[in-house]
Amino acid sequence: MKLPLFQPQRYEPIHRFNIQRSPEWGFMGSDEQEAVRVVSQVLPFRTNTYVTRNLINWDRNSGDPMFNLTFPQREMIDEEDFSTLQEVLNSGASRDEVKEVVQSIRRRLNPHPAGQLSHNVPELNGRKLEGLQHKYRETVLFFPSQGQTCHAYCTYCFRWPQFVGNSEVRFQSRSSDDLVRYLREREEVTDLLITGGDPLVMKASLLESYLAPVLEAQIEHLKTIRLGSKALAYWPFRFLTDPDSDDLLRLFERVVKAGKHLALMAHFSHPVELSTAPVEEAIRRVRSAGAEIRMQAPLVRHVNDSSDVWAALWKQGVHLGLVPYYMFVERDTGPKGYFEIPLHRAHLIFREAFNQVSGLARTVRGPSMSAFPGKVHLIGTAQIGREKVFVLQFLQARDPNWVGRPFFARFDPEACWLDDLTPAFGRKHFFFEREYEPTAVSTVA
Ligand SMILES: *Cc1c(COP(=O)(O)O)cnc(C)c1O
Ligand code: SF4
Repeated sequence: MKLPLFQPQRYEPIHRFNIQRSPEWGFMGSDEQEAVRVVSQVLPFRTNTYVTRNLINWDRNSGDPMFNLTFPQREMIDEEDFSTLQEVLNSGASRDEVKEVVQSIRRRLNPHPAGQLSHNVPELNGRKLEGLQHKYRETVLFFPSQGQTCHAYCTYCFRWPQFVGNSEVRFQSRSSDDLVRYLREREEVTDLLITGGDPLVMKASLLESYLAPVLEAQIEHLKTIRLGSKALAYWPFRFLTDPDSDDLLRLFERVVKAGKHLALMAHFSHPVELSTAPVEEAIRRVRSAGAEIRMQAPLVRHVNDSSDVWAALWKQGVHLGLVPYYMFVERDTGPKGYFEIPLHRAHLIFREAFNQVSGLARTVRGPSMSAFPGKVHLIGTAQIGREKVFVLQFLQARDPNWVGRPFFARFDPEACWLDDLTPAFGRKHFFFEREYEPTAVSTVA
């Protein structure tokens, strides 16, 4: 059963401090309630009544993809950690004692994968530019400080340390002054990606205060402004009935009028997120403001690990005018044991979805891993001579010369991430690892 379909008058968050007083609580089984109570101490959880009343099917709650995407599950932390935490909570321990247990569990969840914090922070005149990341030549990432939260949190999110205030490095920026200075100097940069969290949690006026200096600087080589957002899925009213919805759409128009391509990089995990009247209307409004919408999401167990789900997602997306972009492999952080899918299965799901859709949806690429050396695309498996191998390539790389060169890893049915792979044909290194060594010469064509 779905809770009655309704249009919330305003944004009403549901989080661990009010969930037990919400109607949603009554729809959960006692095991689910206990999982929410205990696991939410460690992993942040936050949703809203649009998600719980329009996207979750409460008839099949523990088997429901949107329930799993929204509420913490028992299996997301170790059995042992779960029991320890449960005991501490039930013993009436002090807040400090609970906190200590929680912190020790969090530390084991690899909070900062793929050198997220220490690498890729650009410099200008020897000064590190906080809130910027520049890993791939053409695209600079910008993290405005007020955009580091979301309209709801995905249980698989790799940004979870930001949400629990656990991010040791300030990975965010308060103004776009440095950004503009940096963009001016870097003529190779064509794309600016504003990300978070979700930058569209910001008021339109605040977003404009970041964007206006970029537009006014008239940086000729900057062609595209991208906004990474899950607002269409989690809060379509951002574009419809929020007090500043119209201002936001006018800001989009302003970006387009300034001659920039405006791309909303929309995160859609499941076709149900594209099934409601509000999301359809929101998509119409965003597109008529002149923005293009591209859709991307990670492939995760318990949420969207089925080729039919992906095929339906891409078909519905194209139907509504969206462009399918990336299918990611879930990152090696947080409750990854709960969500991860072996690479070979990820590829099968991708292929069986890809072959069900028309060419208009085959703009999508995946499965792709955002790993330390770059975005690694698993093209498929092959038999070469006597060896079964994975065929891979870079879609993005620290060194642009690495992009588009097929390379081979030994087939391993259990491998879930690049780090689990070893080179095929008895080689010691992948070609890109050789290039880390100053004396080695790459011999792979
Ligand atoms: C994915 C990503 C980008 C954008 O890559 P595109 O292939 O151009 O979409 C830029 N920077 C980082 C760090 C990324 O992970
Ligand atoms: S919308 Fe994106 S940033 Fe926000 S919780 Fe989900 S995955 Fe994380």
